[in-house]
Amino acid sequence: MSASHVIIGDGIAGSSAAETIREQDPDADITVVTEEGEALYNRILIKEFAKGKLPEAPISIHEEDWYAERDIDLELNTVVTGVDTDEKVVTTHESGEIEYDKLLLATGGTPTQLPVDNSDAEGIHHFWTFQDARAIREHADESDTGIVVGAGLLGIDLAAICGAQDIEAHYLMRGNRWWRYALSLEGAEIIHDALEANGVTPVFDSGVDHFTTDDDGVVTGAVDPNGEEYEGEFVGVAIGLNFNTEFLRDTDIELDDGIVVDEYMQTNVEDVYAAGDITRFYDTILDDYTQNGAWGSAKEQGAVAGENMVADDEAEEFRWVSSYSITHFDFPFLSFGHPTLGDDHAERKYSDTEWRRLAFKDGKLVGGVLIGDLAPQSKYKQLIREEREVADQKEVLLEQDVDLENLDAPAAAESE
Ligand SMILES: Cc1cc2nc3c(=O)[nH]c(=O)nc-3n(C[C@H](O)[C@H](O)[C@H](O)COP(=O)(O)OP(=O)(O)OC[C@H]3O[C@@H](n4cnc5c(N)ncnc54)[C@H](O)[C@@H]3O)c2cc1C
Repeated sequence: MSASHVIIGDGIAGSSAAETIREQDPDADITVVTEEGEALYNRILIKEFAKGKLPEAPISIHEEDWYAERDIDLELNTVVTGVDTDEKVVTTHESGEIEYDKLLLATGGTPTQLPVDNSDAEGIHHFWTFQDARAIREHADESDTGIVVGAGLLGIDLAAICGAQDIEAHYLMRGNRWWRYALSLEGAEIIHDALEANGVTPVFDSGVDHFTTDDDGVVTGAVDPNGEEYEGEFVGVAIGLNFNTEFLRDTDIELDDGIVVDEYMQTNVEDVYAAGDITRFYDTILDDYTQNGAWGSAKEQGAVAGENMVADDEAEEFRWVSSYSITHFDFPFLSFGHPTLGDDHAERKYSDTEWRRLAFKDGKLVGGVLIGDLAPQSKYKQLIREEREVADQKEVLLEQDVDLENLDAPAAAESE
């Protein structure tokens, strides 16, 4: 008899798992539960919508019909409040109970609020859902001044939205540069110049001490820890995610800033799997547990989980080199692998808008950042997948046209 599969979360991880399960088992019962009021949409594209550059329609990925056609039960506007892994039952906020044979947790995260005064004032935006994007677009369109907080990949989306919506904005960063965990100052300066060209002023060694509000509790600006005041009708905050695991509090599922899974996306509890941003997964390339917050990785994890939920044994393992691109500027930007890890680095600037940085761990390439020229990405990803020790050949790796043939032969081949 086919199993009954319950998937919590209809983001790309949950949806991709549902699709895979249906492909593998035409008779399985599949239920997808999501607290959002709309079916899967392209979270990557909601920033283009918020900029005012895209209408709503192309952002949707699945209409509700998509689920009906595949005999997948989609429960919108339904919050899961608890899971009983002994009874194999999921509880929803309306006290509805859904029984499962196999359960997938694909609940992602919720943006973290700044722990400062007035951080919940009206006019302060966090950015994760299409609903957030609608509110941001409308408010940005009517604002003249703005503040952005969070010097990472989502913060820069908010800065780019300010630029596109003609908001005169200050981008308050805690350190001396944007994404200091992955870029050196030389690389980050290319981004700073591009922000300035878009009407966004980066402010370094700053941050937020507190937000100011008017008598109605609407945000008017921010004061940084140095006592500097910045005006902001529109404020965007992107300082990280809190993983959505609260509904698992009565279970024995292992949590470690996310849900711990092996390379098969299985948790420590039988018949319970997890996929997407929410996981701390065993990375077979790094030989260590790690996390990824990227669309492609979440999609693949969902597919791997789906395969393994149907196969009943460890059929497929997750082995993936992630990438994340930014398309806000005149030049392309891409980070790949784990650019913030590493015990050794190499970098080079090729022109005013071309720069590269590679991160190595234990002699192996584990990630990097490419600005301006993305051509070498597939070669670098290949080296990561092959787990080759190449840290001693930085000159070859930093050649503008990387040629892997110029690398010394891999150690294993030499000993043959
Ligand atoms: C603005 C923005 C831009 C981005 N740009 C890029 C990019 O350029 N490239 C890239 O690779 N990645 C990008 N990302 C990240 C990427 O979108 C995520 O990594 C990916 O969407 C994660 O998918 P997921 O399915 O794991 O989680 P999510 O998409 O977060 O889906 C989780 C779902 O679970 C639901 N849920 C949570 N708790 C419950 C509950 N208790 N009950 C019911 N439902 C629940 C949530 O409402 C949500 O719908 C971006 C993200 C954002 C927000």
